[in-house]
Amino acid sequence: MKKNLASCNFCGANIDEVGRLITGLDGVAICDRCIRTCNTIVLSDKSVKQTAQPAQNEQPKFFLPPPSELKKYLDNFVIGQDAAKIALCVAVYNHYKRLYLTGSQKLSVEIDKSNVLFVGPTGSGKTLLAQTLARFLQVPFTIADATVLTEVGYVGEDVDSILVRLYQAADYNVQSAEKGIVFIDELDKIARKSANPSITRDVSGEGVQQGLLKILEGTIAAIPPKGGRKHPEQHLVHINTRNILFICGGAFETLDKVISKRINSGGGIGFGAEVVSKSESKIGEILSKCEPEDLIRFGLLPELVGRLPVIVSLDELDEEALLNILTKPQNALIKQYTELFAMDNIELSFTEEALKTIVKKTVEQKTGARGLRSVMERILTPYMFNVSKEQEQTVLEINAEIVENTLAKSRKQ
Ligand code: ADP
Repeated sequence: MKKNLASCNFCGANIDEVGRLITGLDGVAICDRCIRTCNTIVLSDKSVKQTAQPAQNEQPKFFLPPPSELKKYLDNFVIGQDAAKIALCVAVYNHYKRLYLTGSQKLSVEIDKSNVLFVGPTGSGKTLLAQTLARFLQVPFTIADATVLTEVGYVGEDVDSILVRLYQAADYNVQSAEKGIVFIDELDKIARKSANPSITRDVSGEGVQQGLLKILEGTIAAIPPKGGRKHPEQHLVHINTRNILFICGGAFETLDKVISKRINSGGGIGFGAEVVSKSESKIGEILSKCEPEDLIRFGLLPELVGRLPVIVSLDELDEEALLNILTKPQNALIKQYTELFAMDNIELSFTEEALKTIVKKTVEQKTGARGLRSVMERILTPYMFNVSKEQEQTVLEINAEIVENTLAKSRKQ
């Protein structure tokens, strides 16, 4: 036996001979096979009392408003996207209800977890929705970018690194991390492609999808307590992902074509047959008809699609929505900049035409609401640069002409 490897204290098998090795205090370990054997022994012995069950009234108090209230809160920060908000709030409510009830009551049926998939253009509020909801529910939250994930053994971050970050967001509290929310962005970028295999990076994405599948469906992952790479003798923290809510998002740029093709080839004959006409230009409308089979055709593994039962589509933001985003939310950009300038004794304001021009310029960038910030920065940076130390109370009104000129100037630079 290779003595320098961690091994199971029950059967003696080395870490490389077992599926999983779970370590306890003082380096004691047990392998997955022995756990199964022990489990069978305990379950078949009727005289064994259930000792580890928490008493009913021991459940921690939790904060779970009904879906309509969750939506009301989201409305303060996220403009539009009503259908997405409703679907998300119901999914999140059911998720946490299931989680807390499972802990306190005996349910007659086991309720499945409902991970969520956001499908919608970039900058339409996918991340913002997930982030805002997590903040309201006061649960740990982390964002992961699927494009930087690679299969174990390749260069890059493996899937477990997501859990390390969630654990950190939970202040290194395992129980709290196990009830957190993970947002995995750019899921569409790891769709299966017939790309050339790379020996250093898993570019086909399939390995990453497999890895994600494991944590999405529920596994006990062993992670290094302070991040970094695992090594055999290290004490590992075990996180059960069964109750972590995964929200995945992606632009799925060509998915609308896949959906249109399916609908149009599904026999546009007979009563009630749906046909997507070329004039149906609203991408959000087409994406709202997304079915699991479309995602599989797009390149996601069927098992992964099966683990994302709630598909939520987001609309492309139009000019009116962008104008509202600029001015209405509690932390709207205009409010933020007005506050910043006020600190320097400058009363900042914008004419209606200026706001409309800002929106028009943002639409041209095709980056959704994300573009608003960079446009605002380009307009206001010269003014922010020129403030003096003892600035006298002044008024700064930005009109459409100023917007046009400063943007034209900044493009030339
Ligand atoms: P993505 O859909 O690409 O995940 P994000 O949610 O990251 O987009 O949006 C980027 C930024 O744009 C947000 O931080 C927010 O300021 C703004 N934003 C996007 N969509 C909305 C929206 N519907 N309401 C309010 N702000 C939004």
